[in-house]
Amino acid sequence: MILGCHVQMKAPLFLEGSVKEALGYGCNALMLYTGAPQNTKRRPTEEMHIKEAQALMRENGMDMERMIIHAPYIINPANSIKPEVQELAREFLAFETQRTSDIGAKYMVLHPGSFTTTDLETGIRSTIDCLNTVHYPDNVIVCLETMAGKGSEIGFRFEQLAEILEGVNEPEHFGICLDTCHISDAGYDVTDFDAVLDEFDHVIGLDRLHVIHLNDSKNVRGARKDRHANLGRGEIGFDVLHAIAENKRTAHVAKILETPYINKKPPYAEEIKMLRSGIYDPKALEALEE
Ligand code: FE
Ligand code: FE
Ligand code: ZN
Repeated sequence: MILGCHVQMKAPLFLEGSVKEALGYGCNALMLYTGAPQNTKRRPTEEMHIKEAQALMRENGMDMERMIIHAPYIINPANSIKPEVQELAREFLAFETQRTSDIGAKYMVLHPGSFTTTDLETGIRSTIDCLNTVHYPDNVIVCLETMAGKGSEIGFRFEQLAEILEGVNEPEHFGICLDTCHISDAGYDVTDFDAVLDEFDHVIGLDRLHVIHLNDSKNVRGARKDRHANLGRGEIGFDVLHAIAENKRTAHVAKILETPYINKKPPYAEEIKMLRSGIYDPKALEALEE
């Protein structure tokens, strides 16, 4: 199983520290923001210990495809109302995809955005226009994330993402990140993951799926809330999430945990152990509460 989680990137070791953190949890993949997710302040890549991080990845048999970058969520390409928001999205998309390339990573996850006060179709057009202002670095693939449909989010149906993929000028630079919490919240029945994959294949194409976010959901199917839960502590449940992690059709795709900290402690070592063993251990999570 290719399993990873969201890790930090902070002084003094930066990316090297991120890889170390992931290895400490038993991960063989990882995902990180190259700065705070809610702002656009970014440290120069020269200071990020890239060479050391790449060496550590190599020593542990991890291809750089398994280091996934998440774009900051303040980028909102679907906002066509505020020119400054659109301008920031364009600038930052170019900047962050270049940084992804500098790091040597391949996949950059991006939320397709929220249409705010316009409508779904206008939002989708705005996102396509924004994505088409950038010329993408050779090895980088922007993975549009499947969203929960909270508020005015776009991209909560596979059809909406397919429309974006059909509208971009450089389609070879785009793929999809599927988030289990989000698609369940959006109404998909993840208890039959093969049926979800069939539908994904029919509407988008399974070859476009490059990242899976493996999260439980605090809410029932169709709630459109986007509140992640620890594995087995939500409405999806451990057995369903374990079956998704084990599904052979997506065996080559990294599954990244974005589950909440418990009592300010990361739950990832425990959750990854449960996924690898297939045995749900609620006591291991409870122990973190002490
Ligand atoms: Fe995300
Ligand atoms: Fe996600
Ligand atoms: Zn989410």
